[in-house]
Amino acid sequence: MKFFKQLAVILATAVVVAGLGIYLTHTTNTIHENEQRFLLSELVATQASAIERRLERSFSATRILAQEVMQNRGLFDDFDGYAREVINTIGGISNLQLAPDGIVTYIYPLAGNEKAIGHNILKVDARKVDAFKAIKDRRMTVAGPFQLVQGGVGLIGRNPIFLPTDDGDKFWGFASALIFVDDLLEFTELSQWESRGYRYTLSHLLDDGKTWEVFAYSARPIGPGAHTVTIQIPNGEWHLTMSGPPVLVNTTYYGYLLTILATMIAALMAWYIVRQPEVLRTVVAQKTRELKVMAHQDHLTGLSNRRFLTDQLERILRDCERNQRNAVLLYLDLDDFKRINDSFGHSVGDQFLLNIAQRIHSTVRQGDIVARLGGDEFGILLQNTQSVSDIAKVADKLLEQVRQPIHSNNRTFTLSASIGITLLPQDGNDVTTLLRNADLAMYASKRLGKGHYQFFDTKLQATALEKMELEQDLILALSRDEFVLHYQPFYALDSGVLRGFEALVRWQHPERGLLYPDSFISVAEESGKIIEMGYVILEQACRQIKMLENQYPNSIRVAVNLSQRQFKDPLLLEAIQAILQRHQVDATMLEFEITESCLMDDVDSAIETLTELSQLGISIAIDDFGTGYSSLSMLKHLPVSKLKIDRSFITDLVSNLADRKIVQGVITMAHTLQISVVAEGIETGAQLHLLQAFRSDLGQGYLFNRPLPAAEAFQVAMKIPQKIDLDSPAE
Ligand code: C2E
Ligand code: MG
Ligand code: MG
Repeated sequence: MKFFKQLAVILATAVVVAGLGIYLTHTTNTIHENEQRFLLSELVATQASAIERRLERSFSATRILAQEVMQNRGLFDDFDGYAREVINTIGGISNLQLAPDGIVTYIYPLAGNEKAIGHNILKVDARKVDAFKAIKDRRMTVAGPFQLVQGGVGLIGRNPIFLPTDDGDKFWGFASALIFVDDLLEFTELSQWESRGYRYTLSHLLDDGKTWEVFAYSARPIGPGAHTVTIQIPNGEWHLTMSGPPVLVNTTYYGYLLTILATMIAALMAWYIVRQPEVLRTVVAQKTRELKVMAHQDHLTGLSNRRFLTDQLERILRDCERNQRNAVLLYLDLDDFKRINDSFGHSVGDQFLLNIAQRIHSTVRQGDIVARLGGDEFGILLQNTQSVSDIAKVADKLLEQVRQPIHSNNRTFTLSASIGITLLPQDGNDVTTLLRNADLAMYASKRLGKGHYQFFDTKLQATALEKMELEQDLILALSRDEFVLHYQPFYALDSGVLRGFEALVRWQHPERGLLYPDSFISVAEESGKIIEMGYVILEQACRQIKMLENQYPNSIRVAVNLSQRQFKDPLLLEAIQAILQRHQVDATMLEFEITESCLMDDVDSAIETLTELSQLGISIAIDDFGTGYSSLSMLKHLPVSKLKIDRSFITDLVSNLADRKIVQGVITMAHTLQISVVAEGIETGAQLHLLQAFRSDLGQGYLFNRPLPAAEAFQVAMKIPQKIDLDSPAE
């Protein structure tokens, strides 16, 4: 009887325990599955956003091209040069194309793509659907992916360009960029996840609007429990589907087996069975932790990834707003990193990135977040920063760290980086704006010269745009011949005889009127347009010298200002000779004014250029003397015939003893070196008399004449006697 009772108890216990075991195993397993599903969806979203960002960045190249075409009203000067620069700056693009009226006419680089020239995109069956869609929707549209003639799979972003005409906008053609799918995928971590057992497919919608075609996929097919995310591409959609590794821990099987065992040993093993779900939970928790780390980590460098940084940014931004705290986001991009990858391959490139990542990480404080945002971009989130100068210090330290030499394969390399800085919360209300503004500041910093940092400020957007417009305007002005020269006479201060003119450029702007050099010379210099402009000026000066030479019997000189960039132009000598030849101008009529800065950074090549110029017969004057750092003793070795003392010393000559001493000293010293002296900016009789007493050879200034249009200036030369009365000068 007792035996049956016991058996009943054991059986009952076994049934209860079995039931309990099955229930707990099942629940734990469901939790585990849900966790894995969640992590998988996070992972797919991260990879999808990496693809979206990369596409957006690469295709921004076509917007830049389209902008250029629009600004030039459909013309394009130096397509190759422009496209090369855009490709190098933006990266990830295989070629850029322009197709006026749909006919591919320009491609950079052309090598390997010659076959595409002359292709009419609007007629080829395989391409025309997307092309017409782009025109109809008036927006950038992605075509492809498709198999390329030159091998590989590529996709094309087409930006339709419309130019304004009298009857409204008219379609001009396309600006397109080609991207290889392999290059695009390189930017994601899909291959690393694949090696961990994950599988993926990337698909796009075919023209029928229903069928999804897979165009990139992992070696092994998608497994059960796959998760799909939509990727927004310009004027279309893709799907990224991923599935996890087969089964990380087969909790079901494990649990049921134990339950059966438990049931068999029933009461004896009850405690074990009760404990079992606990063990499972620990295993699951451990795996979950590992996965979470993986989903938020950059695999190459071990830093956090973009997703983690954006999550944190969101949280910290809210916190800053709520508690009136500050934080800082630095956006660091290595300069010219593409060169390393291109010249030494990706494995060396990866090694460099790892090295740089470690340096960045060790530069910031413990609580700060360092993430690799992709490629050679890093994001650094500083918390609890005190002041702008603190932030600048960190940025300096980071730049310094990146600049440290890297040794690899017995060679030494140095890299530099540019940093854009945004402050939380004032520089953006949301994460996207913050990242974009940091990006903008970073590009602004690159424009100013690599290896620096730049704080975001709202003016940045406006100034960047203004400069771009002015640059475009300058190009137009050159083609429309809007630059004119005014001439300011200079005289011998002992006799009052006219000795020459300085040519000063003016811009006859069609809308803004006559513009003076300080409003455009610096942009012309920054953009390099100053070189072309310099030759246009020289050409005009020579034409006018010829007129002067025919009318004016005495020997006088015309001084032309030469910018530093033009002075360093390797073609300078040839170009000058050609211009002199063309206008049949005697080189001794010409003088160049250069500033001290031309002499400073490479004295040897400056000496060489100056010697060659003076061998041609052209004389050299040092302009704005006294404002730079050159010394008179240095001039001893140079073929310089004139010094122009800067106007700032003349202005206060009468009232300022120090200026008087300097001017007097410079004149005396220059004379011992057989260099003559010009005082510029003479405005009063008192200044003139002092300069005469100091024996300045020549003088120029409003007291005598303002700079005048050529015809008027040369009238001065025609006056008889050709000198001014120094006791009561004109004006
Ligand atoms: P700069 O070569 O030192 O030219 C002298 C400047 O002083 C001229 O200004 C002239 O108009 C001004 N000036 C002359 N006398 C007086 C005076 O008595 N009082 C005052 N207040 N100013 C006087 P501008 O024409 O505005 O030119 C400014 C600068 O722009 C020039 O300084 C030169 O560095 C640059 N520049 C002018 N033309 C050219 C050019 O053709 N090529 C290049 N590369 N630079 C040029
Ligand atoms: Mg000058
Ligand atoms: Mg000057």
